[in-house]
Amino acid sequence: RAKELGGGRVEVFAPHMHADVVRRLELGSDLQRALVEERFAVEFQPVVELATSRVTGVEALVRWCRDDEAVPPEQFIGPAEESGLMIPLGDWVLRQACREVARWRRESWEVGLSVNFTARQIAAPRFVESVAAALEETGLPPEALTLEVREEVLVEDGGHNVERLSALRDLGVRLAIDDFGTGYASLAYLGQLPVDIIKIDPSFVAGLGRDETLTLLTRTIVRLGRDLGLTVVAEGIERPEQLELLREMECPRGQGYLVARPMAAGRIESLVRTGPGSGSAETPLEGTALPA
Ligand code: C2E
Ligand code: MG
Ligand code: MG
Ligand code: MG
Repeated sequence: RAKELGGGRVEVFAPHMHADVVRRLELGSDLQRALVEERFAVEFQPVVELATSRVTGVEALVRWCRDDEAVPPEQFIGPAEESGLMIPLGDWVLRQACREVARWRRESWEVGLSVNFTARQIAAPRFVESVAAALEETGLPPEALTLEVREEVLVEDGGHNVERLSALRDLGVRLAIDDFGTGYASLAYLGQLPVDIIKIDPSFVAGLGRDETLTLLTRTIVRLGRDLGLTVVAEGIERPEQLELLREMECPRGQGYLVARPMAAGRIESLVRTGPGSGSAETPLEGTALPA
């Protein structure tokens, strides 16, 4: 519409755009300050083996408390990327998370760690070196770390991302496809990439038992993963019926509010009971709705 009005362009868009730009600038500088003042936190959400309820790993999720109000990552990760802050923020998250999990492992809890990465984080100049350095400095073995990336990451950047992820894979780091089934990548990448894990998007899991097509698709993804020798994790398990169906489908792993919510490191520690010398606990989470 502005184009049709020719010279009226600025007047038509100015008030609205102005507010938007100001909001973005404010968000950018708040993010910057939060990073300097270390006002971010990392929470951990348990991932369990569905057949046994044993916790196999935790997913690190960044938290930002802006003026006493929790801002969802979906609202600040985009702006952080645009302002170049996602690289230092992501590095901070990775180190915090590796440090906690390395400590748990030293206390003989055999747990894995998953950390999310965006395309831009992976495209950063020193991505491979910084992940390797985080492992080295915190003492977390590469095999204990899984990088979670969305399908798009694999098709963008003309193969450079894939090269970088493969370099880390060679060190022993595992690779998970997050939000599996929602991207626009062709399935062909599964045959070309050293993928270890696929995480079924919650939009499929949400339909379990309620929507025939989504139930069938979930079953198909579980089978596909099994046939390809991949570990499948179902995300967003909220209802007992979903858990039952996933167990019946023999989906190996799961994650969701029904199992456990994301929580601070200290809370994970107090919930997980590691039997002396046992290395892992059979029913490690207390107070969750997960039936043994
Ligand atoms: P994701 O990696 O797919 O993470 C799962 C999200 O689902 C998390 O939201 C988690 O809190 C939420 N969730 C877990 N179980 C349930 C459930 O049963 N029901 C529902 N409704 N939600 C559940 P969160 O923490 O808000 O993060 C959203 C997204 O932001 C993540 O999706 C990930 O893409 C991104 N993100 C979070 N932390 C980081 C980070 O440190 N680095 C990067 N690059 N991205 C991050
Ligand atoms: Mg994830
Ligand atoms: Mg996901
Ligand atoms: Mg997601």
